Amino acid sequence: MKPTRNLILVLGDQLDLESPLIKNMDPSMDQIWMAEVEEESVHVWSHKQKIVLFLSAMRHFRDVLLKRGLPLLYTELNEGADSFSLCLRDTLKEYQAEFVTVLRPGSWRVLEVIESVCKEFSVTLKVCEDDHFFTSPKDFKIFAETRKAIRMEYFYRGLRKQYDILMEEGKPIGGLWNFDKENRKAFSKKGPDSPYHGHRHEPDSITKEGIALVEKYFPNHPGSLYSFYWAVTREQALTDLTNFVEYRLPSFGTHQDAMWKDEPWLFHSLLSSSLNLKLLGAKEVVKAAEQAYYVKGIPLSAVEGFIRQILGWREYVRGVYWTYMPEYLEKNALAASAELPEFYWTGETEYECLKQSIGQTLKYGYAHHIQRLMVTGLYALLLGVDPKAIHKWYLGIYIDAVEWVELPNVTGMSQFADGGLMASKPYVATGKYIQRMSNYCESCPKNPEKRLGPDACPFTNLYWDFLIRHEDALKKNQRMQLQLRNLNRLSEEDRLAIKKQARTFKEAGNQKVKTYG
Ligand code: FAD
Ligand code: SF4
Repeated sequence: MKPTRNLILVLGDQLDLESPLIKNMDPSMDQIWMAEVEEESVHVWSHKQKIVLFLSAMRHFRDVLLKRGLPLLYTELNEGADSFSLCLRDTLKEYQAEFVTVLRPGSWRVLEVIESVCKEFSVTLKVCEDDHFFTSPKDFKIFAETRKAIRMEYFYRGLRKQYDILMEEGKPIGGLWNFDKENRKAFSKKGPDSPYHGHRHEPDSITKEGIALVEKYFPNHPGSLYSFYWAVTREQALTDLTNFVEYRLPSFGTHQDAMWKDEPWLFHSLLSSSLNLKLLGAKEVVKAAEQAYYVKGIPLSAVEGFIRQILGWREYVRGVYWTYMPEYLEKNALAASAELPEFYWTGETEYECLKQSIGQTLKYGYAHHIQRLMVTGLYALLLGVDPKAIHKWYLGIYIDAVEWVELPNVTGMSQFADGGLMASKPYVATGKYIQRMSNYCESCPKNPEKRLGPDACPFTNLYWDFLIRHEDALKKNQRMQLQLRNLNRLSEEDRLAIKKQARTFKEAGNQKVKTYG
C-alpha cells in the first residue's frame, strides 16, 4: 500500500484553485483525487450538455492542477468508473490514507456515499465548509431557529448588513431593500432590443473529447449537443462575467421576469453553471455588480435585483437544503401523484409557452428563472405532478442543476410541496400571467382568457381546478384569500365544467408516459 497523509477529494462542482483544501495542501504528503463517474450522469436522466459541461470543466481543471505540479489521481470515464463508491474504494485499497478531506459536496447523496466508504476503510473523513459561499449551513440554522417563518427577505437583509453590500451608514443605499416596483416589467410590443451576449465559447479539443464520450456512452440521453457554448474554464467564466456586467446588467432588473419567443437568454447573466461549478466565486460576482453601480453608474434597481439573486436566493436555498435534508426530498404537502407529461422530454406540445421553454431547455440546457417557475414549474404544479418526478426532471435537464440549489427551488418554491416553508403561498396563476409577461400566447392555439371550451388555455383551466382541489387546505393561508373569494363566485355548474375539462388536460398530459432514469 502506498502511504499518503491526506487524500483530498475534488468533486466535479468544486473546480476552484482557491479552495482552502488545495491552497493548504502539502504536495509532498497529500494527493488530490478526482473521478469522472457514470453514476452522476444516470442517477437522474441527465441532459447531454450537462454531462459534457462537467467532463470538460473537470478535464480543464485537471490540466491546471498538473501544470502546477500538484499530485493528482484522476480517473476518466472511459476507465470504467461506475460510481464514486467503487472508485474511492479502489483508491483506498491502493493508498493508505491517514485521512480523507472534502469540501461539503453539492448533494446529501454524495456526502453519504463518501461517509460510508470512509467508514468501511476506517479512514477519518474531514468535511470542510466551502468558503465560496457567503454563509455556511450552520449560519442558516441559527437564522432558522430564531424565526417564526424563514423568509428569504430577512436572511438577505442580514447578509447585506453583515457584508456591507450596497449599504450606507447602516441603511440600504437608495433607502429601499428592494426595487421590485421598477423591476419585473414586460417588454413593449416590439420585444427586447437584442442584447450582446458574447458567451459563445466554441468547443476546444477537450470539450470535443467530452462531446464524443457523451455520444458514445450516453446516446439516448435528452438534449442536443449541437450548440454547446458554455464556459468550461475560469478564464471563459470571467469573460462571461465581464460581458454581462458591461452589456446586460443595466437592463437585468427591468426585464428579469419577462419572456419572449425565440429569445432564450434576454438580459440574464448565464453565470449559474460557472458559479455552481465554482469556476466563479459568488463573492467576486457580487463585488463586480456592486462596483458597476459605484464606478459605472449602472442603475441601483438592476444591481440590487441581481445581487439579491446571489446573496439572497442562492445562499438562502442552500441553507434550506442543508437544514431540512434528507426529509426535504420526501416532501409532498399537496399529495401530488400525477406523472410528468411525456412532452417535458421532447418539447412536442402545441402549448407555445411550454414548447418554447422546454424546446430551448433541450437545445441548451437552459431556461431562465420565470420560465422555470411560471411555465414548466407552474404547469407541473397545476397538473399535480409528483414532486419527486418533477425534481428529477429539473435535476437532470438543466446545465446548472446541483441538488442543493435545484431541490428547494423545485420542491419548495415551485411545487409548494414543503407546505409553505419557503414560499408563503403557492405560485399559481392563470395563462393571463404568461400572456402579460411574454408574447407566447400570440402564436398559441389556446386562449389564455378561456378556462372552458376547445381553445381553453390549460393553465387557466387547471388554475381553477387547482383551487377547487385544494380549497380546504388553502383556506388557512391568509395570502390566498383573494383567490379563494374569486373561486367562491363560481356556481356548482361552473365548478363541474372546470373539473370535467381539467380531466382532459390531465389525461392528455399522461399519454405515452415513459419512465426515464
Ligand atoms: P440570472 O437570472 O442571471 O440570475 C443571476 C444568478 O442568481 C444566477 O446565476 C444564480 O446563481 C442566482 N439565482 C437566481 N435565482 C436563484 C434562485 N432561485 N436560487 C438560487 N440561485 C438563484 N438555479 C441553479 O443554479 N440551479 C438549478 O438547478 C436551479 N433550478 C431551478 C428550478 C426552479 C423550478 C426554479 C424556479 C429556479 C431554479 N434555479 C436554479 C434558479 C434560477 O432559475 C437559475 O439560477 C437561473 O435561471 C440561472 O440563469 P442565470 O445564470 O442566467 O441567472
Ligand atoms: Fe401558454 Fe395558455 Fe398562452 Fe398557450 S394560451 S401560450 S398554453 S399560457
